[in-house]
Amino acid sequence: MTGPERADVDGVSVPTGHLIGGEWVGSPSTFETRSPLDWDELHLADIARGDSAAADAAVAAAVAGFDMWGSTTVVERAETMHRLADLIDDNTDEIARVECLDMGFLEESMKLRLVARGALNFRTYADLTVAHEDRHWDAKGMANTVQRMPAGPAVVITPWNAPFMLATWKLAPALAAGNSVIHKPAEWSPLSAALLAELALEAGFPPGAYNLVQGIGSEVGGALVADPRVRRISFTGSPATGRVIGKAAAENIVPFTAELGGKGPLIVFADADLDAAAHRAAWQFDDSGQVCLAGARLLVERSIREPFLERFHHHADQLVLGDSRDPNTDIAPLAHPDHRQRVHGFVKRARAVGDTVVRGGRPVKGSLHYEPTLIEPATNDSEVVQEEIFGPVLTFQTFEDEPEAVRLANSTRYGLSAIIYTGSQQRAERVTAAIRAGVVWVNTFLVRDLTAPFGGCGISGIGREGGDHALDFHSEVKTVMILNDTTS
Ligand code: NAD
Repeated sequence: MTGPERADVDGVSVPTGHLIGGEWVGSPSTFETRSPLDWDELHLADIARGDSAAADAAVAAAVAGFDMWGSTTVVERAETMHRLADLIDDNTDEIARVECLDMGFLEESMKLRLVARGALNFRTYADLTVAHEDRHWDAKGMANTVQRMPAGPAVVITPWNAPFMLATWKLAPALAAGNSVIHKPAEWSPLSAALLAELALEAGFPPGAYNLVQGIGSEVGGALVADPRVRRISFTGSPATGRVIGKAAAENIVPFTAELGGKGPLIVFADADLDAAAHRAAWQFDDSGQVCLAGARLLVERSIREPFLERFHHHADQLVLGDSRDPNTDIAPLAHPDHRQRVHGFVKRARAVGDTVVRGGRPVKGSLHYEPTLIEPATNDSEVVQEEIFGPVLTFQTFEDEPEAVRLANSTRYGLSAIIYTGSQQRAERVTAAIRAGVVWVNTFLVRDLTAPFGGCGISGIGREGGDHALDFHSEVKTVMILNDTTS
């Protein structure tokens, strides 16, 4: 694609259309994407605004693409995916720059962590699919086999936070399983998905195996998930959208996986390394709190309240709010003015109901930053405790003993993740067993083997990603029994 259908984003040329059946195509209308680094001045691109016609064309292309991609050998698939991983590595600087401008993510962190992780996602699933062996056994006079079959065209819908990394995490298992994909990225941060699709084309996925449709969730996203030719829907986003997509999936009896919001606790016991715990707590402001896994509820043993808070404020005071392109910046702006408005709405309502704002609590003038904020709620029922804010706003509560810590930790409808700081192995084992969450870290955070399951309890989601869990989701699993031929 040439000319007006590409945008120059700080020297990086980004396609602005949809990738359908191996061709870049436009739509009659567009939507704009602006940079949170300078909302008023930095218009980045006008992006094709997909409609029902784009959705229909993408699904038709994915049906044709599935015929080709679904019948490749696992080795051929793995080779293509490894080529894509290498191309991601080769384009790290460009992807990081574009994502930084489009979503506000710290550029250095993108380079070091998230682009590398994107490549690793493809490598991991390429290798896993090659390593997979169907199960065979003889019993009851029959040769029994359990096989995986590619499921069909998969729609993959991703949110605006960590857009590149999450797209790769969700697309890799779908493609490794042999499904063709239609990726629908979020309208607030569509650009890195376009770069990824372009690299996929270069890596050699056959036409229609890898499709990208840009646009607004309720418009083109809704049309994609309603299409009965789609055989898998893999969604990451908010519980509210998860409910809507789940209904569409039910209508067509399509397996649906949902990675939704979080409101994780960060529990600090008196026997913990206090400074490490306080440092970790202050760093929950990282990425301006736009992290589903964040330990947004600080639960601290009452006896260490004051020394913990002193250390927490010390570490939080060191955080530098600034331009995401500057390597010295720790805290990026929020991704969108509407989101900052939403975050501030939570804080205003918290003040109105008598919660205490201990630090921060205001938008920063002249940028889209929000002050790193700590709120001591009047009760555990406060909205700021119970609802996902998805911004740099943490709550602070104390507990008397272990049972109370567990009760508070499990007291929201969410159950994605939890972080525990303790010096006791026995306590770590007891508390991790009692916590209702899909992922629990003790004295650490975020590190995870990609073959381990990942997902949430409660309204944090349905199903598990990671390792064989995602490959099973994207496959049809078939059991075959062949009567042994006793004459031969
Ligand atoms: P969102 O639900 O508003 O949007 C997510 C995606 O769904 C976007 O691409 C959007 O365009 C699309 N969409 C919206 N309405 C749709 C519809 N009717 N049909 C089809 N698609 C539709 O979420 P968001 O605000 O982009 O992301 C933030 C949320 O994502 C938070 O709740 C966060 O916790 C969650 N999240 C979860 C994880 C996880 O792994 N559990 C990871 C990152 C983010």
